[in-house]
Amino acid sequence: MPTSARVSDLQLGLLMKFFERMARGHQKALSQQKNAQKKADMAKKQGADQKGAAMASLHHKCTVCMAMIPDPKTYKQHFESKHPKSPMPPELVDVQA
Ligand SMILES: [Zn+2]
Repeated sequence: MPTSARVSDLQLGLLMKFFERMARGHQKALSQQKNAQKKADMAKKQGADQKGAAMASLHHKCTVCMAMIPDPKTYKQHFESKHPKSPMPPELVDVQA
């Protein structure tokens, strides 16, 4: 039956095209997912690095004027010169300035 053969060829062709599109779409989605994952990882790493660097360089916050101070020595010196009348934070009492 020539008619049904033609139809099934057409159907097969459509089916093949459909599967090709599916496969391509799936690959695209996969690579997009991978890229997004990569970007997220990089952002995470950068964020952690920046946070770590910021934490390391600005470790102390003056309880009186809220200034960020890199190390306890500087903090104690800052406190003694800027806020001599304020009670010294307990973490600075033992610091050798
Ligand atoms: Zn201060």
